Amino acid sequence: MLFKLSILYYLVEIKLTKWLYVHNIGFRRNWIIKKLIQHCSTSLFYKDFAQKKNDFTTFPIINKAIFMANFDAINAVNIKLEDALTVAIESEENRDFSPTIKGITVGLSSGTSGNRGVFLASEKERAYWVALVLDRVLGFPLKRRRIAFFLRANSNLYDSVKSKLLAFHFFDLLHSIDAHIERLNTLQPDILVAQPSMLLELANAIAANKLDIKPTKVISVAEVLTPEDKTYLSNVFKQTIHQVYQCTEGFLASSCEHGTLHFNEDFLIIEKKYIDQEQSRFHPIITDLRRRSQPIIRYELNDIIQEKTSCLCGSKWLAIEAIEGRSDDILIFRNIENQEVKIFPDFFRRAIILADDTISDYALIQTEPTHLMLYIKSQHEESFQRACEAIQDLLKKSNIFEVEISQTNHNHTFKGQKLRRIKNDVRKTH
Ligand SMILES: [Zn+2]
Repeated sequence: MLFKLSILYYLVEIKLTKWLYVHNIGFRRNWIIKKLIQHCSTSLFYKDFAQKKNDFTTFPIINKAIFMANFDAINAVNIKLEDALTVAIESEENRDFSPTIKGITVGLSSGTSGNRGVFLASEKERAYWVALVLDRVLGFPLKRRRIAFFLRANSNLYDSVKSKLLAFHFFDLLHSIDAHIERLNTLQPDILVAQPSMLLELANAIAANKLDIKPTKVISVAEVLTPEDKTYLSNVFKQTIHQVYQCTEGFLASSCEHGTLHFNEDFLIIEKKYIDQEQSRFHPIITDLRRRSQPIIRYELNDIIQEKTSCLCGSKWLAIEAIEGRSDDILIFRNIENQEVKIFPDFFRRAIILADDTISDYALIQTEPTHLMLYIKSQHEESFQRACEAIQDLLKKSNIFEVEISQTNHNHTFKGQKLRRIKNDVRKTH
C-alpha cells in the first residue's frame, strides 16, 4: 500500500516538475541539482567533487567501463559489485526475478558477458520509475488492461508496475514464436511491449493470418527501430508505434503522440558530444537528477544519436531523429591513401534498403577491414547484387576500394540477443 501511495505521490510530482520545466521555471531545477551534488558526498567516488564545488559540470565524464570499475565506490548504498553480480546472475539462472540486497533491487542489463551493466534501485526509485512509466508510456489506468511484455529476463522492477488495473504478462524471449502466438491469441493484450525484431515477427504472423490481436498501443523497446521497420509495423498494427529508450543507465526517452522520441529532460541533463563535423550526431552524456542509490552523473553512452531539430508536437525536449546503434557499430576502412575512414551504420542501412524495395531483411557484418558479410532476404535473387553495388558505391565515394562482400544465409541474430543489423566484428577477431 505504501508503495502504491509513493507511486501516486511521484506521479503528481512528475507532472508538476514537467509543468515547471516546460514553463522554464528554473529555480526548482537548480535546487534539485544542488540536492544531487550534496547527496554525492555519500559516494566515495564523488565525495571530493561534491565538497569542492556546487557545479556538476566539474564532475568527471565517465563511461560504462569506468562506472563498472568503480561500482563499489560510486554507489551510495554500500553494495559490492561481486555481491550484486552473484545475486543477479543466480536469479537469472533460476528464472526467479526478485533479487534484492539490503532492500535494493539488483538488475542486469543485457549485453555480452563481460560487458554487462548492473543496476541498483531503491524502493523509492522503483516507485518513481513506475510513476514515470505510467506518465510517459502506459498512461494512468482507468480501466483494466492486459499488457504483453517481451523480455530477455523478467525483473521485479516490472513486477512492481502490476496492479488490479494493469495485468502484466511476461513473455520469455527464449520461448518459440509459435508458443508466443498461441498465448497472444488467447490473451488478447491491450498493450504490446517488445523489441523491434520480435514485433516484426509478430507483424509477419498477423500478415500471414496466424496471429489475430488488436492492441491499442504497441511499444518498441531495447533495440534500434529503423524508419522502414517503423513504417511496416505502423501499417500492420494500424497505429503509431511508440518507443521507449531505456537502458541500465536509466529511462532516457519516450515518444510523443507523433512517434518522435524526446529525451526526458525534466529529470535528465543531456550534454552532447558531437561525433561528426556537421554536428548532427552525438553521444549523449547523461546526468540523472533522481538516481540516488547509484548516482548517474555525466555518464557518456556510446549510442549514436541523430538529432532532430524540431517536432510537430511542439515539445522543446531534445528530439531524436534516430538511434543509429552504438559507436562500436561504426564500420572502419582504409581509403586509397591509407587513411582511416569511419562510416556510420545509418549510411549502410540507407544504401541497402534503397538498393531494392523487395528487400525485407538484411544484415551487414564487417569481419575484416577489407571484408563484409551481407545477408539479404528478398523475393528476388538479384537483390543481393543490387545491395552489393550500392554498398560499393557508398565506399567508393569515400575512396575506399577493394572491399570484398560475401553472402551469408543467416542474419546472425540469436534468440534472446539484440538485433544489430550493421555490426563491426573486426575488433573481436583481431
Ligand atoms: Zn514530439
